[in-house]
Amino acid sequence: MREAFRASVLHCLSDPGEGADRSAIEYFEDGVLLVEDGVVVEVGDVGSMLAQCENVAVTEYPGKIIVPGFIDCHVHFPQLDIIASYGEQLLDWLDRYAYPAEARFADEGYAHEVAGVFLDELLRNGTTTALVFGTVHAHSADAIFAAAQQRGMRLIAGKVLMDRNCPAELQDDPESGVAESRALIERWHGQDRLSYAITPRFALTSSERQLAAAGRLASEYPDVWVHTHLAENTAEIEEISRQFPNSRSYLDVYDQFGLLRKRSVFAHCLYLDDEDRQRMAEKGAAAAFCPTSNLFLGSGLFDLSAMRSAGVACGLGTDIGGGTSLSLLTTASEAYKVLHLQDQGLPAMRALYLATLGAAEALSLDDKVGNFRCGKEADFVVLDPAGTPLSARRTGIASSIDEKLFATIMLADDRHIAATYVAGRCWAVS
Ligand SMILES: [Zn+2]
Repeated sequence: MREAFRASVLHCLSDPGEGADRSAIEYFEDGVLLVEDGVVVEVGDVGSMLAQCENVAVTEYPGKIIVPGFIDCHVHFPQLDIIASYGEQLLDWLDRYAYPAEARFADEGYAHEVAGVFLDELLRNGTTTALVFGTVHAHSADAIFAAAQQRGMRLIAGKVLMDRNCPAELQDDPESGVAESRALIERWHGQDRLSYAITPRFALTSSERQLAAAGRLASEYPDVWVHTHLAENTAEIEEISRQFPNSRSYLDVYDQFGLLRKRSVFAHCLYLDDEDRQRMAEKGAAAAFCPTSNLFLGSGLFDLSAMRSAGVACGLGTDIGGGTSLSLLTTASEAYKVLHLQDQGLPAMRALYLATLGAAEALSLDDKVGNFRCGKEADFVVLDPAGTPLSARRTGIASSIDEKLFATIMLADDRHIAATYVAGRCWAVS
């Protein structure tokens, strides 16, 4: 069935860059998004779309902006309940907050309950796709996949692999970790809109045997994702160089074990050198830029300019629970500030790119989602620039869509999401 949505419509065709290149975006002030059976048919100005909209139900959103659904490139659903936990850096934070929270997921019923709450929160914030960490428990992956399938969402997730340097109750071993991952791949990968990610937590919590086993599994299933952390924290990196004295760099550890490849997504990537970035680009690996987490845990500043100049695909990640918001608008606002501290700009259009098409490119999903090209899945968000009295006042005097979108991003929260559509179906209405 065809359905049309009328509002301002905005999407990216490529990376607008620091110069906010206009040829990289398409904007229709009075536009129509035409959808059929969950797929984009066409987007255009209302005048040019009239003929196609005859006998089609039109949903009107006056004053709103329709943009592609947001894509979260790195988030931990089991850490939802430890968001906003005070005062530690990465390694202490894992021991004090993350591991105890993840241990609760031994209870399968609890895992299913949190998975549902987590995905509803994503949708309330306009996020329609995410790359998600589970816990070491295989049923944590079952829980998030089942909840995503029920909501029709495109989602990539995996059970964590970790067999050392963490509490015994959260450890698997090289054989059981791979066996469980393989079973999950067979059960979920390619079902509906779901995909699997082989998910070693990071190089400090996997033995060399486990990293090698994960790498063999990755080469056995080249169309499966690899999802892990890289170069987040200086104390972590010192420990990596002690544990892996024969590796040139932290990235090199993953490379040596066959975990650096296309569809490998690395969260953080704060302390890389030119050779690392070059290697990531050559291999087609991607980076998740997680500014609220990097600030909250005192980790450091992501160098977007260096990553993009090297040709590395980058998208935004919330990294809940190290991050402090599930909103990719809020995350983009913090990204702007992180880049500003490094004399880099983040125009509104590039922020939109990092939350939509850029993220889709980072996750190798840009043939399916990320913008409104004909044939893509109709995941979209109805943004309300007047979500609060203050943002209504500020965006009301904006003289351009760039200014309006920028102010919306800086002031936004979930009150600025009027509706979220998953494959053409309205899922969350505030
Ligand atoms: Zn993380």
